[in-house]
Amino acid sequence: MSNEALSNLLREDRRFAPPADFAAAANVKADAYATAEADRLAFWETQAQRLSWGAPWSEVLDWSGKPVAKWFVGGKLNVAYNCVDRHVEAGNGDRVAIHFEGEPGDSRAITYAELKDEVSKAANALTELGVRQGDRVAIYMPMIPETAVAMLACARIGAVHSVVFAAFSPDALRARIEDAGAKLLITADGYHRRGGTVNLKANADEAAEGAETIEHVLVVKRTGADVAWGAKDVWWHDAVGAASTEHTPEAFDSENPLFILYTSGTTGKPKGILHTTGGYLTQASYTHHAVFDLKPETDVYWCTADVGWVTGHSYIVYGPLSNGATEVMYEGTPDTPHQGRFWEIVQKYKVTLLYTAPTAIRMFAKWGDDIPAKFDLSSLRLLGSVGEPINPEAWIWYRENIGGGRTPVVDTWWQTETGAIMISPLPGVTEAKPGSAMRPLPGISANVVDKEGTIVENGHGGLLVLDQPWPSMARGIWGDQQRFVDTYWARFAEQGYYFAGDGAKKDEDGDLWLLGRVDDIMLVSGHNISTTEVESALVSYPAVAEAAVVGAKDETTGQRIVAFVILRAGQEETEDLDAVLKAHVSKEIGPIAKPKQIQIVAELPKTRSGKIMRRLLKDVAEDRAVGDTTTLADSTVMDLIKAKLPHANED
Ligand code: ATP
Ligand code: MG
Repeated sequence: MSNEALSNLLREDRRFAPPADFAAAANVKADAYATAEADRLAFWETQAQRLSWGAPWSEVLDWSGKPVAKWFVGGKLNVAYNCVDRHVEAGNGDRVAIHFEGEPGDSRAITYAELKDEVSKAANALTELGVRQGDRVAIYMPMIPETAVAMLACARIGAVHSVVFAAFSPDALRARIEDAGAKLLITADGYHRRGGTVNLKANADEAAEGAETIEHVLVVKRTGADVAWGAKDVWWHDAVGAASTEHTPEAFDSENPLFILYTSGTTGKPKGILHTTGGYLTQASYTHHAVFDLKPETDVYWCTADVGWVTGHSYIVYGPLSNGATEVMYEGTPDTPHQGRFWEIVQKYKVTLLYTAPTAIRMFAKWGDDIPAKFDLSSLRLLGSVGEPINPEAWIWYRENIGGGRTPVVDTWWQTETGAIMISPLPGVTEAKPGSAMRPLPGISANVVDKEGTIVENGHGGLLVLDQPWPSMARGIWGDQQRFVDTYWARFAEQGYYFAGDGAKKDEDGDLWLLGRVDDIMLVSGHNISTTEVESALVSYPAVAEAAVVGAKDETTGQRIVAFVILRAGQEETEDLDAVLKAHVSKEIGPIAKPKQIQIVAELPKTRSGKIMRRLLKDVAEDRAVGDTTTLADSTVMDLIKAKLPHANED
């Protein structure tokens, strides 16, 4: 019997040091760790100076209201001023802030000076529509520049935005509007998707109909489609179009709420996470500078996430814009009109810094190496990953096929609740290991503990905790502070740790490897085995593009490992594949982790943010009714999988 919280099975010996010229010119050097270690609060105080403040703070951190922190107590700032106006004042008004690329191929470049005018006009329009400091505004918008403008306009007047992913249903939108008590809904007539158009306004109407708190619906014209028009509806081009470009940004308290954002719902019902301004913007700005090594004069940055997720908030809007970045924003899907669309965009805008998700990387690998090879990707100098553990083989594929074998790859671990990146290599410092998020960033402290909360030794696995407060930490769950305490702070209340809900291990060097959700950990013959390690072993077999692994009830071993596998394009499901894959896992990580059953599938169930929903696969593997699928991106996927695996228990 193993008494470890989580077995450490997979070994990875490959190492990738930063290129010498990258290291020499890096924004953040190795000394940052020691500086932060010596005085964490002084370190964050220095980072807060990256921003412009309207009034200074009297105290860096007030942790007396634990687990609700106050950072930069008494300080005042305006988030929109920091993201827009100050760049214009510094003489960079002509710099492009956003290169917008529409799915049909239309494009628009918006400079910081233009962005300042648009945000000011929108702020005036929102005020005209009765929105005041502290009011909630629901934003149900596609990936168009007006979405960033709407968010910044809220921030500018001290209102709280709640961005709801545009592919969510009217019911999901209504529930979020009601939960937040939103007064204004900002939406669009529609957007372009997979070669067609989506009528977003129809969904917004359905949601707004029953939502009594909504006073107005502000509608951006994107597609020009015919839309129904009600008494509360106002065109963006009328209200914002007529507004003045003069708007004086007021400095708000550093703990003024900035946004509510619902988590992506991989593990269950989404939680309305609340973030405030001073600490949030400090960490979003610093981490964007440190992890992406942004040089605002020369870099072109592209984060492919949707603005409806926290990655879009922190690394499309607040991080990059606070740093004066030039960035790409793309409306559509990666395969419209062809599977090389992302690479065409990288080539067109000479993107230097690219931030995407493992689910996308595995999909590109599945489509084939020949697709990115057709494009000039030589402008890229750094690649980032977020959202799930990145399998070592996917990491290598990304570096080789997208990064030309030259670029550092940063695997960034964080959550909606953490607000900004917490664990990641520093690209100019860290000798990266494929599949490892490496170390907490300077100023951040994390550890791995066993079930009792005791810190595990190097070489062992357990539960990831954050043992020191950080500036961009969530301040609560909107309307349910008890749930905030119960979900994150109750488990290790004695030690005062934040419990992230993720499994992790510390390797022999003390570097961190994320091992997936704690709820997904498998117990096989007394060993706790992570889904990630088995999945990574499967993905390291050349024919495999993607894998999801679950533990299903088993009379003899407690749980047996069931694997769902997607093959790369052109790979056939051969007779002996099952045995070959089992033998491969056995060889890579040991016989204990060998799947009992392997099912080749065409798709895996994913949330709308692209994360694999293992709990649904577990339902299938245990041959019972599939649980809550409301956050599933494509509801037909489960039917296809079930059809392939009719009697999972009769192995
Ligand atoms: P919910 O909490 O509602 O189930 P969610 O956790 O999927 O939704 P997010 O906050 O978007 O919502 O996702 C954060 C989670 O994503 C992390 O807790 C972790 O499980 C996973 N994750 C993000 N980045 C990484 C990474 N680099 N490596 C491993 N896992 C990651
Ligand atoms: Mg979560």
